[in-house]
Amino acid sequence: MPAMPAIFVGHGNPMNALSRNAYTAGWSAIGLSLPFKPRAILSISAHWYVPETALTSMAAPRTIHDFGGFPQALHQVQYPAPGSPQLAAEVADLLGPIAVMDVGWGLDHGTWSVLLHVFPEADIPVVQLSINETRDAAWHFDIARRLAPLRDRGVLLFGSGNIVHNLHTYSWGKHNTEPYDWTIRFENTVRSALASGDAESLVAYEKLGRDALLSVPTPEHYLPFLYILAQRRDKEKVSFPVEGFDGGSISMLAVKFG
Ligand code: ZN
Repeated sequence: MPAMPAIFVGHGNPMNALSRNAYTAGWSAIGLSLPFKPRAILSISAHWYVPETALTSMAAPRTIHDFGGFPQALHQVQYPAPGSPQLAAEVADLLGPIAVMDVGWGLDHGTWSVLLHVFPEADIPVVQLSINETRDAAWHFDIARRLAPLRDRGVLLFGSGNIVHNLHTYSWGKHNTEPYDWTIRFENTVRSALASGDAESLVAYEKLGRDALLSVPTPEHYLPFLYILAQRRDKEKVSFPVEGFDGGSISMLAVKFG
């Protein structure tokens, strides 16, 4: 059995759940590009950013509509994928005593707004791993590396955030807005570091200067990318199944290893 690829997606606007556009077409293509159907999915979403490292451990996670100001139709979307108490236990085992089991969360829009395009059947079990907001990027990268064996067990590691995510400068509703120069530069910096295999500078992104400060004003949308970057194996191929910018200051770049 080949190793399952590890994939980061830029989820952007929650309305992508209901749209059919270049981003959602790219997400659908990801589902069809995998070497085989994953046994389960471990999702690290920007939208479960809490003071602990938690795992959804319920058999039937609820669909969480964790946003406001969107049409009723978006609130009605359901993604009824089963959970996997077994995968939650496996992940807890890999992470050691830091992981706690959670029965209150479920699947938030970082997970379902994209997965419903990647796997529309919703028949693959999904577990979410929270992002501990009290820890720094290096800590996250370090614990993420402990998850490496999952790729050999048929599990898809799935990170959902945005490499550039600045809502203060985001142009709501005007999707043809040109990306800011710092948006493009920071994404290019990330691409160059990926091309040269320089994970170190991506983990220490805060040292990358003003472009990084504007592109990653808060860490929660960037950290899911580091969880997936940590899965990259020696000289493993990187590809970008989705590219583009939304509203001037969101990068929709998807990154696939393997
Ligand atoms: Zn988001």
